[in-house]
Amino acid sequence: MDLPLKASFVVATGAMDVAKNIFVRVTLHGGAEGYGEVAPFPDISGEDQPTSLSVFPVAAQVFLGQPATQFRRLSKKLLEVTELFPALRCGLETALLDALCHAMGIPLWALWGGADIRSRDTDVTLPIGATNEVVATARDWYQQGFQILKMKVGHDVEEDIRRVAAVATACKNASFVIDANQGYTFDQARAFIQAIEQLHIPVQVFEQPIHRDHIDEMVMLKHQSAIPLAADESLRSLDDARRLIEHHAVDMFNVKITKCGVIESVAIAMLAQASGVRLMIGGMVESRVAMGCSWGLVLGLGGFELLDLDMPLLLAVDPIDGGYQYEGSTLHPWHEFGLGLSLNATRDSIVVVE
Ligand SMILES: [Mg+2]
Repeated sequence: MDLPLKASFVVATGAMDVAKNIFVRVTLHGGAEGYGEVAPFPDISGEDQPTSLSVFPVAAQVFLGQPATQFRRLSKKLLEVTELFPALRCGLETALLDALCHAMGIPLWALWGGADIRSRDTDVTLPIGATNEVVATARDWYQQGFQILKMKVGHDVEEDIRRVAAVATACKNASFVIDANQGYTFDQARAFIQAIEQLHIPVQVFEQPIHRDHIDEMVMLKHQSAIPLAADESLRSLDDARRLIEHHAVDMFNVKITKCGVIESVAIAMLAQASGVRLMIGGMVESRVAMGCSWGLVLGLGGFELLDLDMPLLLAVDPIDGGYQYEGSTLHPWHEFGLGLSLNATRDSIVVVE
């Protein structure tokens, strides 16, 4: 299903006007149904809608005829055939877990233990754009009660600093998440951090300032920065998480189920908690299906300090009935079974795997 955005989503590594996603429905033998969402971001992961669809029948075979109660074993098997398709893996796992929780009669977050059941606020993302336009958009969100503004940077240091400073002036009590999506060199990232520190702009975390493989530079940057650094593109698997922890490369992990699948994301979050690495959670351009699963990790696992779960608010359409709801910047827990939602859109293309 193609999900148009309200406005073009521009980040350092690419742009998106329409999220070309895939919705997955799994039906268990007893009749319980579950939904999942495949949300590939081609410029970030290399996955896209056609390639995901071409791999889908092979991936789906892993689940067919198998007990959903053995989802960890199935997830491991799924990884073998979808190593390069984490968003696809995420969609299938979400659907399986949703269906299982429907059969069990529990909300999806209960499967993870229900560690932190309360309403939480998300940030809202401001893509790269002309300063006056970004300031106007920021002001609009801020007046609606969004206190944490996530600003995309990484195109041009000077311009990025001017834009962030202008938004900080316009939104007096806002705090910031900065995300360069690997767009800076080491020197550019250092210059950006120094400028932000001198301007006393309250930045909670700076995501992925430099290229994902430049771990040594990340370590140096971390030593020179009072602003906490987070790994996003550098963190695409449990092995990545181990490596980042060994090198003390970052202060925080940005966990995303579309990057690693659901089960591996759970493992990463638990490793981070055990290792003293702070946690935030985010997503790709996705609806409340994938984002509901992520919100379920926040409620179920606990320990997530920062929520970057705003994407459904940036979509021009909402193809979902039910599910968790937003009230301004606040996400409320849901109490229905599974994800508590269903798809409301007419389906123009269905791949049936039996
Ligand atoms: Mg990011």
